[in-house]
Amino acid sequence: MNTSLQNTTTLHNGVKMPWLGLGVFKVEEGPELVNAVKFAIKHGYRSIDTAAIYENEAGVGQAIREGIKEAGISREDLFITSKVWNSDLGYESTIAAYETSLNKLGLDYLDLYLIHWPVENKYKEAWRALETLYKEGKVKAIGVSNFQVHHLQDLMNDAKVKPMVNQVEYHPRLTQKEVQAFCKNNDIQLEAWSPLMQGQLINHPILMEIAKKYNKTVPQIIIRWDIQNGVITIPKSTKEHRIIENSSVFDFNLLEEDMERINGLNQDHRVGPDPDNFDF
Ligand code: NDP
Repeated sequence: MNTSLQNTTTLHNGVKMPWLGLGVFKVEEGPELVNAVKFAIKHGYRSIDTAAIYENEAGVGQAIREGIKEAGISREDLFITSKVWNSDLGYESTIAAYETSLNKLGLDYLDLYLIHWPVENKYKEAWRALETLYKEGKVKAIGVSNFQVHHLQDLMNDAKVKPMVNQVEYHPRLTQKEVQAFCKNNDIQLEAWSPLMQGQLINHPILMEIAKKYNKTVPQIIIRWDIQNGVITIPKSTKEHRIIENSSVFDFNLLEEDMERINGLNQDHRVGPDPDNFDF
């Protein structure tokens, strides 16, 4: 199916989004960040995931400008995602937050803008703002993050535009069966954050056994499992060799029996906050 790092899936509005991108959570402004994004672009990544709260949009923007020049590609070849933070959820404040993110990134549009967390009584107004930005052609696609099924249902009751993407914590210990089924049935593309469970699955014996069988590494097995499950994935690394490693997943296929073994590792275990019980 996916034979190249630049292969895309088509969102329900027709926009194409790469299956694999680079995450930059917890990477502070500075040379490490700029280099990570530039390594990614140099090695064929076309999708970068940031957020206002990561406070690194300026560095991501600098790396994009330098990276595309060195790679001989254009801005339009990239897929850039950012997210509105909780304190900016509201109609006017979300529109303003979008402009601030664009300015920091030095871009004139984003490919995808997400509501970062489903803050009660706030996400619907923010969604109206995203709809306005989308209808005015200021952003190519809009979506949400950390939305459970009930949040999606509630949002869609009033929404004029259905979210194109839902980005949630997703890895072999948290397979999100209900959210995944709901998104699939509603043509909302699921996207995995912390796909590597922040590095905590590296020594898992079953994953190591499967990795050995395919002559791959555990991160490569997990990333391949995401894609074969139809889930977009954005592993984070600042190290060039790992950025390359994490993208070398388009030259093999996991057999159904191994997909099932990995699916079977689910424990509904989160490493991040619970979207039904958070206080920020
Ligand atoms: P990941 O699951 O991507 O794991 C990242 C960790 O794994 C880092 O410590 C990294 O270290 C290490 N790592 C990466 N590749 C390898 C490798 N090949 N071998 C060994 N270790 C490796 O965690 P994140 O939490 O960063 O999630 C990914 C992205 O998802 C974020 O960067 C962010 O963009 C997004 N996200 C979104 C959230 C949301 O609420 N919407 C919440 C959290 C994340 P090193 O850098 O040293 O290589």
